[in-house]
Amino acid sequence: MKNVICPGSFDPLTNGHLDIITRASQIFDKVIVAVLHNPNKKPLFSMDERVEMIRESTKHLNNVEVESYSGLLVDYARQRGACAIVRGLRAISDFEFELMHASVNRKLAPEVETVYMMTSNEFSFLSSSVVKEVAAFHGEVSCMVPSAVAEKLKEKFNS
Ligand code: ADP
Repeated sequence: MKNVICPGSFDPLTNGHLDIITRASQIFDKVIVAVLHNPNKKPLFSMDERVEMIRESTKHLNNVEVESYSGLLVDYARQRGACAIVRGLRAISDFEFELMHASVNRKLAPEVETVYMMTSNEFSFLSSSVVKEVAAFHGEVSCMVPSAVAEKLKEKFNS
């Protein structure tokens, strides 16, 4: 069994994230979407909300599980028996950060590979921050996020 981890903040999940998760699910036996609990960040959505939105948006993918995690990603990967960490790459600007993390993770756990998937062209501009900015000004986000996320964003910014 080739299990992989798709880690991230997912605050909230976008169509760009979903594209990477879907493509990973077509290559690997099991994809564990791991939602990071980062005490240094103040997310818009709580952990439970983020996990729930991803579960709802990936329920059609039989080999995808969604969990939260805190601590070192490589420890979590080992604990879940994952052979690789899957990350998405958008622009050159992502590269430096990703290279640093992949290098540190390889030092800590050489048996856990990091695999990068290039963004699909139509999602290359998408990030959770852009989505939140548009939603905060009541712009249309239904083309950027799954419907479960669009609904939650409306609730957040209309209340
Ligand atoms: P993090 O805070 O760990 O970067 P994110 O939730 O922003 O978490 O992203 C999780 C993963 O999804 C990262 O690998 C990121 O590069 C990738 N990603 C985010 N947006 C896109 C996109 N539009 N296309 C492809 N990959 C993306």
